[in-house]
Amino acid sequence: MRRLWLAAGVVAAAAMLLALNWSAALNVAGVKRGAVVPSLRGALNVFKGPVRIGLQVGHLGEERMPRELAKLRAATGAEVGGLEEVDVNLAIVRALAARLRADGFEVEVLGATVPPGYRATLVLAVHADASPNPAREGYKSAIFLPVRNPRDPLLKLDVDRAVLAETDLGNDGRNVSLDMLEYYAFNARRFRHSLSRGTAALIVEMGYLSNRKDRAELRHPAVLARALADGVVAYLHDIQRIPPGPPGAVAAERP
Ligand SMILES: [Zn+2]
Repeated sequence: MRRLWLAAGVVAAAAMLLALNWSAALNVAGVKRGAVVPSLRGALNVFKGPVRIGLQVGHLGEERMPRELAKLRAATGAEVGGLEEVDVNLAIVRALAARLRADGFEVEVLGATVPPGYRATLVLAVHADASPNPAREGYKSAIFLPVRNPRDPLLKLDVDRAVLAETDLGNDGRNVSLDMLEYYAFNARRFRHSLSRGTAALIVEMGYLSNRKDRAELRHPAVLARALADGVVAYLHDIQRIPPGPPGAVAAERP
C-alpha cells in the first residue's frame, strides 16, 4: 500500500512539473494560457523549453581570446575611414536582440569567444566586410562545411531570403571565403571554444564598410536587424519550433 502511495506521489509530482514547463513554453510561444496545443510537435516543443538564440558580435573582445585561438587575437575586424566593423556588428546585434526578445525569445549576446560546447536553438555570427575594391558590395552568409548540423542549410536559406528581400543589400554570395566556411566558432573538431553540433549556426556578412551604398545601409542597423529577425522567425516556423502565425504578442504590433 505504501508503495502505491509513493508511486501516486511520483506521478503527481511529474504532472506538476510538466504543467509548469508547459505553461512556460506556451508563454514563450505566444500562445494564450488555456489554449490547446494542437499537435505532438507542440508537446515536443514544451519539453525542449523556450527558444534560445545566441547572437555573436563579430570580433568583440577578440584580443582576449583563449590560447587555442591566439592566432585570431590580432584579427580585430575591418576598419574604413574611422568606422570599425566591431561597432557596426554590435549595433546590429543590439537591435536584433531587442527585436527577438520582444518576440518572446531568450537571447544571449556572445563575444568573439564562444563558451565551450555552447548550446542554443540557433546562433547567428554577425559581421561586416571590407575590400580594397570600393565597388564590391552586398550581403553573404555561410554555413560550416562539411555540414555539421543538418538544419544549417535551412537556416541559411531563410535568413538569406529575408535579408535579400527586405534590405537594399546586393547578393555577394560569390565572395564567401574559406574563413567563413570554416568559421572557428562553429568548428567543434578543432576548438573547444565552439558551438555544440546540435546548435544550428550561420555567419552573416552584412555588406561592405568600404562601399558607399553598403555604408548607407549599415547606418540603419534597425532595418538589417528586422530582416535578420524575420529570417530567424521563418526558420523557427519551418522547423516547427514555434506555432504558425506571429512569434509572440508583440509581433502583432509590428508596423
Ligand atoms: Zn568580421
